[in-house]
Amino acid sequence: MRRKIAAGNWKMNGTGADIAMLTHLAQRHSDPSVDILICPPATLIERAARAVEGSSIRIGGQDCHAAESGAHTGDIAAPMLRDAGAGAVIVGHSERRHDHRETDGIVRAKAEAALTSGLATIICVGETLAEREAGTTLDVIGGQMASSLPDTLDGSATMLAYEPIWAIGTGRVPDAAQIAEVHAFMRNRLRERFGQETAEAMRLLYGGSVKGANAAEIFAIPNVDGALVGGASLAADDFSPIIAAL
Ligand code: PGA
Repeated sequence: MRRKIAAGNWKMNGTGADIAMLTHLAQRHSDPSVDILICPPATLIERAARAVEGSSIRIGGQDCHAAESGAHTGDIAAPMLRDAGAGAVIVGHSERRHDHRETDGIVRAKAEAALTSGLATIICVGETLAEREAGTTLDVIGGQMASSLPDTLDGSATMLAYEPIWAIGTGRVPDAAQIAEVHAFMRNRLRERFGQETAEAMRLLYGGSVKGANAAEIFAIPNVDGALVGGASLAADDFSPIIAAL
């Protein structure tokens, strides 16, 4: 059975003052049957990892470079994230794809590097509002999956996050039928490409305006194995109800 996961993406938010939030979270949630992941900015990974030591919370990065080391000013390699205490990383978030012009090919190379270095890897896909309204959502998701996912992957270490761009930070959430349709489509595509065992092992996350108030409904949708949460992962009082709904 796939373990449910609540993954928080702090994006470009947080300083040392916010580490206390992790201590509260670790005290509140000790159920080892659910996975909790927090991805703070890279500057906080080491402090965050220390703060959650001994708890079931894991710390992750928000991005990594495809190379192991080298002349890439400002970038961070997957082995460096591991060294800092991360156990996971997000790649291909739509904000990275947009702000840094990351293509599917770049995302795939990053995912390969992350998996090779032993990080659990969340690969993000999602359509724009224009694509949703044009009725091309499944084509877009299928294309992103075909080009962003490595050819060989460990299903238990790889997660796929469906994040409609129009739902991120907007308070708009697709209805349950729309999420169910995309998640069933993703599971089928994974089965066709990687086989039954890998497809069943992979966790499929939904992301985009997940809150305590809608988490239970979203987690009840077939093929939804957890959530990738932005804004509501920044405060323990907002993130806790999402964890509790898993
Ligand atoms: P949001 O962000 O929860 O603030 O909508 C989700 C995400 O970008 O992962």
